[in-house]
Amino acid sequence: MREWRYLLNGSSLALDAETCIGCGSCVEVCPHDVFLVEAGKARIRDRALCMECGACSRNCPVGALGVSSGVGCAAAIIAGKRGLASSGCGCSTDSSSSCC
Ligand code: SF4
Ligand code: SF4
Repeated sequence: MREWRYLLNGSSLALDAETCIGCGSCVEVCPHDVFLVEAGKARIRDRALCMECGACSRNCPVGALGVSSGVGCAAAIIAGKRGLASSGCGCSTDSSSSCC
């Protein structure tokens, strides 16, 4: 799968590595593979892949993640309309519907 880049250096995604317990939920729910878990801690693999859907933050059991959700989906749709990226943000895995 191609890795669409959304908010270059602008993603609001924040990870508190001290608080992280390495459960892997963020890896599981992130639609764009933004995270890795290494040595028991999450790490942001590539911030520009984040389109601020908020799934990681909503599913982190200890509140180690923060993100201002919503902006990235809108940016992805605008980029799609301009022919710069896919037309959706990709945050829905259900092919019969879109989250946006
Ligand atoms: S906000 Fe969405 S795209 Fe960004 S890191 Fe979290 S789950 Fe992944
Ligand atoms: S969901 Fe939260 S606690 Fe779990 S690995 Fe990700 S950042 Fe760490």
